[in-house]
Amino acid sequence: MQADVITNQVNHLKTTFSSGITRDLKWRLAQLKQLKLMLVEQEAAFLAGLKSDLGKSEQEAWTSEIGFVVSDIDHTVKHLISWAKARKVSTPMFVQPGKSYLLPEPLGTVLIIGAWNYPLQLVLAPLVAAIAAGNCAVLKPSELSVKTAELLALYLPQYLDQNAYQVVTGAVLETTELLKQAFDHILYTGGEGVGKIVMRAAAEHLTPVTLELGGKCPCIVDSTTDLTVTAARIAWSKWMNAGQTCVAPDYVLIEKSFLTPFIAALKQKISEFYGSDISKSKDYGRIVNARHFARLTSYLQDQDVILGGEMDVDTNYIAPTLVLNPSADSSVMLEEIFGPILIILTVDKIQDAIPLINSKPKPLALYLYTKNTQFEQQVLSQTSAGSVGVNDGMMFMANPSLPFGGVGNSGMGAYHGKFGFDTFSHLKSVLKRSFLFDVALRYPPFSASKLKI
Ligand code: NAD
Repeated sequence: MQADVITNQVNHLKTTFSSGITRDLKWRLAQLKQLKLMLVEQEAAFLAGLKSDLGKSEQEAWTSEIGFVVSDIDHTVKHLISWAKARKVSTPMFVQPGKSYLLPEPLGTVLIIGAWNYPLQLVLAPLVAAIAAGNCAVLKPSELSVKTAELLALYLPQYLDQNAYQVVTGAVLETTELLKQAFDHILYTGGEGVGKIVMRAAAEHLTPVTLELGGKCPCIVDSTTDLTVTAARIAWSKWMNAGQTCVAPDYVLIEKSFLTPFIAALKQKISEFYGSDISKSKDYGRIVNARHFARLTSYLQDQDVILGGEMDVDTNYIAPTLVLNPSADSSVMLEEIFGPILIILTVDKIQDAIPLINSKPKPLALYLYTKNTQFEQQVLSQTSAGSVGVNDGMMFMANPSLPFGGVGNSGMGAYHGKFGFDTFSHLKSVLKRSFLFDVALRYPPFSASKLKI
């Protein structure tokens, strides 16, 4: 796409924003309902697209992509009027009589850049928040999930006001052009390297950014845990979307003495979930492309693979795979796995997990399976992470009352539910004074007698 086409597109949205149409709450609600209608009416097409891009089963594609956004829309529609209201705050004595409040106002025209692993959810959930807050938006879906990007470009304009919402497809070239524009906010989801590119480009225009990045998510399994439920929840959260989930557990930390029963329970769950021939399971996904397939398989060289390891280059299939105690300087330990390989690291005592986690960049999510509430408190107070799942994997994503975002290298800012509305709003401070009691003390000329009071 030519640079001037992108510039014109963005300028067109800015003109729409200036018209004030997106400030009307009824208009915002109507757009949100249209977005839901698109997902409902085009469900079959999107399911097929997600199958083609990532081999997602219908069930998984519904719960983690289409249904996720539908319930996000429902929640937003239900609460939008109250979120958009002025938020009263207290007013100190020295500015009485007066009223203080925060007035949410839309930021303007925003850019949403998505990653390929949940190609629908990662652009549409931020879009829900951007629409709710009264913004115009450009969506840039990932070029790696080709089919879903095409479908978004096809259907979104059929349902939403094209003067306010546009999809730009393409890769680095197009994103680079987009990043030259002066947006009012950018929400980027993807890896750390491009996150830095986005932030640098945003700095040119002093554009605020929300960066939804990744990293290695640790998972502590304490021996007091319920083994069967823990194994089920870890297997579910790890091998959903073939491990290509930013909040999937990357490495498990477990005491040596608990390793054997844990591995047995995990094996049992994998076979219950996906059968004896996992490559034939309709519920098990595929690696997005050959480049990521090669990256993942290279991690297995010279490692102690204690389960799985089977692969098929023609279909980008890699079985659920466990790697035991890789060395600290191996690439599988240094890089985010983002695939169906799970590292198991044994520690002498479970408390050793804490310094190990703290020696690495702050993760997007941290998981802890335990019945020991004292240990739970110790982990919560002595580690840092974007979100923590105690005794479950990634279910916190489903609670719109919890903000979703990273900390440190795993990102900045957050969204979901009201937090998304606030991310795409400016909370304007307003102090309204009365004309009564106009105390002259604050006005010049100042004198010693005035200062004494
Ligand atoms: P990706 O390759 O799809 O890239 C993300 C976006 O950046 C795409 O839209 C792409 O077009 C754009 N892009 C790529 N190179 C660019 C460049 N040089 N300049 C400008 N734009 C460019 O996704 P990815 O980076 O492979 O995503 C995987 C990472 O994303 C993982 O680290 C994962 O943990 C993280 N992730 C985070 C979340 C979250 O919500 N925090 C969700 C999903 C993925």
